[in-house]
Amino acid sequence: MCGIFGYIGPKNAPEVILEGLKRLEYRGYDSWGIAVLSEQIKVNKNVGAIGDLNRSNLPSSKIGIGHTRWATHGGITETNAHPHLSSDNSFALAQNGIVENYQSLKDDLLKKGYKFKSQTDTEVIVRLIEEKLSKARAGALKSKKALPASRQDLKEAVRSAFLDLEGRNTIILLTKDNQLIALRNGSPLVVGVNEEEIFFSSDTLSFAPFVKKIVVVDNGQMAYFEGG
Ligand code: GLU
Repeated sequence: MCGIFGYIGPKNAPEVILEGLKRLEYRGYDSWGIAVLSEQIKVNKNVGAIGDLNRSNLPSSKIGIGHTRWATHGGITETNAHPHLSSDNSFALAQNGIVENYQSLKDDLLKKGYKFKSQTDTEVIVRLIEEKLSKARAGALKSKKALPASRQDLKEAVRSAFLDLEGRNTIILLTKDNQLIALRNGSPLVVGVNEEEIFFSSDTLSFAPFVKKIVVVDNGQMAYFEGG
């Protein structure tokens, strides 16, 4: 089943996310990873049981995502663990679920010259978003329109890529310009809200004691927040 966790707020994100992932351990996993934003997105991936933060060696941060993986596509390795980074390091993405049509999407992306570092179905989503972004930018240049604001551009690329996926997929992204974007289809996704902080998770149990309000994201919905 595995899990997704995300945090924006005043506390140290790597620590909050690590604790959140520990509370999702009961869902089962074989590897795990965390991505946080300091000056750049930093990713730490691990095989096996969730360890302590010293081992994960992440900078302090106010925004980030985490994932516990149950490998379905590709072996249990650090490379295959999530989150997966975009080629230009502008976003990191984790998925709960399976991209049933990943092979045809991957074949198409390979033909277009996209490169893959892992064997996962999840990295296909990352490259698909990159392709959507590059098409949007090329279209804007051709029509001599002003380039769309990058945040809006990325959200639209994520939405469009998500709609191309078959299967049960819930995804979460951290972007280098301080956004968390999550979309649900199948695997659960809940958002916890406090005055100054937002939690994303596969399960309310992982943050319920700390939040005032809980929002269940429905299938087909996107949740989106910007860090301060
Ligand atoms: N299909 C994903 C992979 O093999 C696993 C996603 C999950 O842990 O739910 O990378």
